[in-house]
Amino acid sequence: MVNWAEIDNVLLDMDGTLLDLSFDNYFWLEFLPHKIAAHKDIAIEEAQKTVRSLSDSTYGSLRWYCLDHWSEQLSMDVEALKKEVRHRIAMRPHCAEFLAFLKTLEKRVVLVTNAHPKALAIKVAASNLHLHLEQMISSHEFELAKENDGFWEALQEREQLDLSRSLFVDDSLAVLECAHRSGIGHLIQVLHPDSGTHPSDPSHFQGIEHLDELMTWQN
Ligand SMILES: [Mg+2]
Repeated sequence: MVNWAEIDNVLLDMDGTLLDLSFDNYFWLEFLPHKIAAHKDIAIEEAQKTVRSLSDSTYGSLRWYCLDHWSEQLSMDVEALKKEVRHRIAMRPHCAEFLAFLKTLEKRVVLVTNAHPKALAIKVAASNLHLHLEQMISSHEFELAKENDGFWEALQEREQLDLSRSLFVDDSLAVLECAHRSGIGHLIQVLHPDSGTHPSDPSHFQGIEHLDELMTWQN
C-alpha cells in the first residue's frame, strides 16, 4: 500500500488502463483483417497473417503504434477505419470515478500513451477523457516508445517531473520495466486490460484488476 501523500504526479496509460483494450484487440485482430481481406480480395486467414507479420516486424518500437506507418504498409486509411468502429471505445470500470477521485486529491494527472496522435484524438473524442486530465502526452512527441530506454528521462526533462514522487499505472510489463529502470517511484500493473478476456497473471509489480483498488490507499 502506498500513501497518496508520497505522490505528486499520477501518470496514466490509456489503452488497457483507462480505456478498455477490447476495442484495440477487436480492431487489430478482427475488424482490420476483415477489411484487408475485402480490400485485397484475399482470405481472412491471409489477411490475419499480413497483420501479424507487420506487427512482428515493428513490435516494441514506436512504428508499431504509428497509424501512418500502418496506412502506408497496407495502402489503406487505418485512421478512417478506426473511426468506423469508434462507438466501441469505452472507459474501463471505475475509470471516471478514479479520475474524479484524483481531482479531489489535487494531483497532477497526466496521460502518457504510446497511441499515435491520430489514434489519441479518436479515443479522446469518443470517451471525453480530456475532461479529467491536466495533460495528454503521446510518446510520438519524443520519437521513443514508453518501453524504449531514454523515454522517461526525456519526459522528465521536458516536463520537470520528480519521477520518485510519481505514480505510473500501465498494463504492459515491458513498459513498466522501462519505467522502473528510469526511477519512477511507484508502479502499478493493470491485470485486466481487456474486459473480454481473463485477467493476466500477476508479475513482480503490484497488480490491480480495477482502478478503484487505488482509492483505498491512505491519503
Ligand atoms: Mg496499455
